[in-house]
Amino acid sequence: MAMTASLDSGATQERPQRVTLLGSTGSIGTSTLDVIARHPRYQLFALTANDSVDVMLAQCRQFSPRYAVMVNERAAQRLEAACREEGLAVEVLAGQQALVEVATHPDVDTVMAAIVGAAGLAPTLAAVEHSKKVLLANKEALVMAGELFMAALARSKAMLLPIDSEHNAIFQCLPHESRLAGSADAHPGVRRIVLTASGGPFRDTPLETLATVTPEQACKHPNWSMGRKISVDSATMMNKGLELIEACFLFGVGPGVVDVLIHPQSIVHSMVEYVDGSVIAQMGSPDMRVPIAHALAWPERMHSGAPFLDLTRAGALEFREPDLDRFPCLRLGMEAASAGGTAPTILNAANEVAVASFLAGRSRFTDIPAIIAGVMAQMTCRRADSLDIIQQADAQARELARGFCDRN
Ligand code: NAD
Ligand code: MG
Repeated sequence: MAMTASLDSGATQERPQRVTLLGSTGSIGTSTLDVIARHPRYQLFALTANDSVDVMLAQCRQFSPRYAVMVNERAAQRLEAACREEGLAVEVLAGQQALVEVATHPDVDTVMAAIVGAAGLAPTLAAVEHSKKVLLANKEALVMAGELFMAALARSKAMLLPIDSEHNAIFQCLPHESRLAGSADAHPGVRRIVLTASGGPFRDTPLETLATVTPEQACKHPNWSMGRKISVDSATMMNKGLELIEACFLFGVGPGVVDVLIHPQSIVHSMVEYVDGSVIAQMGSPDMRVPIAHALAWPERMHSGAPFLDLTRAGALEFREPDLDRFPCLRLGMEAASAGGTAPTILNAANEVAVASFLAGRSRFTDIPAIIAGVMAQMTCRRADSLDIIQQADAQARELARGFCDRN
């Protein structure tokens, strides 16, 4: 009897979990809503977006959040008028500070951090400081301010759960008692962490053609459907560089412990190797609803809506070393991970500017690593132990990167 009751988690009568979803109109945002729509125990407290009024309006109709935040003031005015006209009982807020308010409100249990880029730092860090359960998709926030983040996590009662599929996989593969962030010796018996990478759309493209690839080609990922910025990061493999840094902060390990392997099928999402020779891998369909449902329900399990993995149809699973000449951004990520301090902040800021310039048609794909390398060579790396220092490094790197973009 006891066994039946504990297996049937749907029968537990808990109070609803109230969720603030930062970046609700994006790829992770809409996948999160798809999972939440299947489970009435989750209620949307707030939805936030930059400026997509139509998508946000449809989400307000379906999920009736208490608050909807548009960072863009004019978008907020348009949303408010539309909600009033339809008689929706949602309160519309505007501006960046409103993101922090809905991420820290006392009525909120869980914050999904799914804003793209540095714009997500302030509300995500504030949610950690306010001891929320924080589901972290917004890797740039952790990369640019990892030390502050982990210090805030240690001080607060917050719970940080990784949404990035690789880090979610590693979290599931680490020993039960030590898998939450800690120091390197907090993972006894762990020899290596292996981050898998699909290699993106250009893993086999002739190198001499990379200078002329278009944003559309770069955003056509073979296995995952994602926002445009992370799609370009996957194509340059900067995404794996950022994820290496993310893994070091989250799991309290040095970059020497983390290996990267190209695995084109995206079935094994990452692995942990132990000193006895055991390797524990997490597998699943390449569908972000799997890590989202895992983290939302943790430590329980619930349906995600993702197709179940059929290994008889998955074909051969391949693994190979990444070619750092093909993917100079991965090398830059490795260098920033080793340098520490403000190096990851600088790397991230320069990458955001370079990718935006490529997506806007102002820079070539192959300019991206050149811009980042140029910025990193010109800046001195400092200790990253205050928000001031991080913001200064971020601003200076962006300015330098814009200068490099203009010269192309
Ligand atoms: P996306 O571009 O699809 O969505 C971004 C969301 O952030 C949107 O809701 C947008 O309105 C909001 N936003 C953008 N700029 C903003 C700003 N200046 N201020 C406030 N809000 C802003 O991005 P995505 O693919 O959903 O990725 C979100 C984050 O999750 C990124 O950090 C990405 O690296 C990470 N991630 C994504 C995936 C994926 O499969 N998409 C997988 C792993 C990690
Ligand atoms: Mg990932």
